[in-house]
Amino acid sequence: MNRSLSQCIGNTALVELKTIGKGFRNPIFVKCEHLNPGGSIKDRLAKAIIDDAEERGLLKPGMTIIEATAGNTGVGLAISAASRNYKIVCVMPEKMSLDKRVALKALGAEVIITSNAPPASPENFRNVAIRLARDNGWFLADQFCNPANIKAHQTTTAVEILEQTHGKIGAFVSGAGTGGTITGVGRAFKIALPQVKIVLADPIGSSLADWVETGVLGPSGSYLLEGVGQSTPPENLDREVIDFAERVSDEESFAMTKRLIREEGLLVGGSAGMNVVAALRLAARSDIDGPIVTVMPDSWDRYRSSAWMQDERL
Ligand code: PMP
Repeated sequence: MNRSLSQCIGNTALVELKTIGKGFRNPIFVKCEHLNPGGSIKDRLAKAIIDDAEERGLLKPGMTIIEATAGNTGVGLAISAASRNYKIVCVMPEKMSLDKRVALKALGAEVIITSNAPPASPENFRNVAIRLARDNGWFLADQFCNPANIKAHQTTTAVEILEQTHGKIGAFVSGAGTGGTITGVGRAFKIALPQVKIVLADPIGSSLADWVETGVLGPSGSYLLEGVGQSTPPENLDREVIDFAERVSDEESFAMTKRLIREEGLLVGGSAGMNVVAALRLAARSDIDGPIVTVMPDSWDRYRSSAWMQDERL
């Protein structure tokens, strides 16, 4: 009783993939971030960014918060802002799903859609958000650079996983959009468990996998997965904590998402499928000893109108 919604963020379940992970050398455990109140892992950092900005006096009731988002951070900001009298403006590239736009509008956020422009273009969603924040005196949540994003994962997501596994982890694998999850969890794990492998799951078409492994950005192409991969490294992605990368295609990711839904009852989105494809590769490796842990970043309701979700052949 008397729990506020913000107290319901985090402390998510960690469950074993009993069917999909069967027969592999190492078990696979998934952290059910889709069960957060806003339906994604982004609830954690949205709350952390608002709390931090309030503490530092950058955000006061009545102000407008603007963010460049693939959609989930916008939902996280909107649910944390709902009881605190902030207006939310979300800038989203057009590739993001219709369901995310509908969710954000239902939450009362203003949604601005940009073209899928590259980072150097003034029309890129991040540049549009920066410009609007500057011109209107709005608070830019800035998940790509704000250290509160990394800290949220280092002090909550990582701590919960360490408790839930009693510190028995062979590898942690995750995609990167802002890099907050893999950097925050990776830093905490490298301190607590120096032998653990931290692995980036990256969509084929993203430039990050090559950059992580060689320091040189890979070619950038198009892909359908949302919220993960980049053509340039975000400030919140720390290359130093990552041991190597696994490259995963849209097709493999979407087919695995369908399996997670059907065979495990996990109602998750596309990047969860990508993470599990990478986790299965690690589960088979003889040089990794111990459970493979990954995250289910968001919920299937964000993608119900997407062609891949509706494709019955997958
Ligand atoms: N999956 C989805 C669906 C996301 O929206 C995001 C965040 N953009 C991620 C994964 C990646 O998380 P992070 O930003 O912490 O790297």
